[in-house]
Amino acid sequence: MGASASSPLRAIIDLRALRANFETFRRAAPQSRILAVVKANAYGHGVLPVVRALGAADGFAVARLEEAIELREAGVAQRIVLLEGVFSGAQLRLARAHQLDLVLHDTSQLDMLEADPAGRDELWVKIDTGMSRLGFRPEQLASVQARLRALPQAPSRIRLMSHFARADDDAAMTAEQAQRFAAARRQWVDASGETPEASLANSAGALLWPQATLDWIRPGIGLYGATPSASRAATEFGLTPVMSLHSAVIAIRSVATGESVGYGASWRATRPSRIAIVAAGYADGVPRHLPSGAPVLIEGRRAPLAGRVSMDMIAVDVTELPQATVGSPVVLWGPGLPVDEVAAAAGTIAYELLCGVGRRAVFEYVD
Ligand SMILES: *Cc1c(COP(=O)(O)O)cnc(C)c1O
Repeated sequence: MGASASSPLRAIIDLRALRANFETFRRAAPQSRILAVVKANAYGHGVLPVVRALGAADGFAVARLEEAIELREAGVAQRIVLLEGVFSGAQLRLARAHQLDLVLHDTSQLDMLEADPAGRDELWVKIDTGMSRLGFRPEQLASVQARLRALPQAPSRIRLMSHFARADDDAAMTAEQAQRFAAARRQWVDASGETPEASLANSAGALLWPQATLDWIRPGIGLYGATPSASRAATEFGLTPVMSLHSAVIAIRSVATGESVGYGASWRATRPSRIAIVAAGYADGVPRHLPSGAPVLIEGRRAPLAGRVSMDMIAVDVTELPQATVGSPVVLWGPGLPVDEVAAAAGTIAYELLCGVGRRAVFEYVD
């Protein structure tokens, strides 16, 4: 990541924690193979170091062709699945040239295969079981199967997949999706006489719904140590944070009772206060909606955010933390302050915070 040496902002990536989290998924689904989901620059962690640390994965999944090509050009030899498939004939040719697995989720992609039947593709046929995002409806499958059968070059391998909408928080809907998927798979088997491998579970599916692990699981967020559950902490699953985001105090000031801090003057001192200014703002990935009172770790102790997050800085009330001084180390999230907790305070999810770490951060990898 681009960053100047002057930046106090550092994202420390613990590759040992990453591998330990990977092993947690192995134990949760010992019969399944693992597609490690590394889209969006490995959820903001830096895709190449993450992929290299996950050499034990059976494959990797990304969202965009460019992400997949970057991995191939870096020498990644494992299976790489394009989770949204290709969007044009030109992309199809590039995907074939790089031996990428394609998710097939829309009839427009069948058109592309028919228009360019020169490749023996590995296809993951995606079935919409309730997410209503990507995938064929079960009633379309017979025609999808017929069109695939009619291709002059049969795909070398077909697998079936679907995606959960609420594996993190809703047992009834998740069970219903799993049932629809099982029914669609039976229908596929009856029509083809072949039993394709199947994949259903993201992190939440893999850790909360063992019956949904099937042949391949697709963990993302849990690999990075954030919780896959809406109600349970990452530690309850034995997951360890991979990223910690560090900065430093760059100024300390005194604020009199009644004076305000920051844009909008949204925080006002109710007592004589000491305020620490920290070099990390929303351009660095600190969510702008983080409210006053949200925790920040300074010198390893929690202190409350005071006022709005600015582009480059935040203010923290350190009245009760006399040891805080210019140069004091700050942790925005990491061990001791789960990214899930910071995300919840900002009304969002850890995924968004991790993906949003800015280009000014210096990334350091610990192994
Ligand atoms: C992003 C993604 C995943 C990983 O989901 P997590 O919740 O991060 O585990 C799995 N499957 C598909 C299709 C995805 O798009």
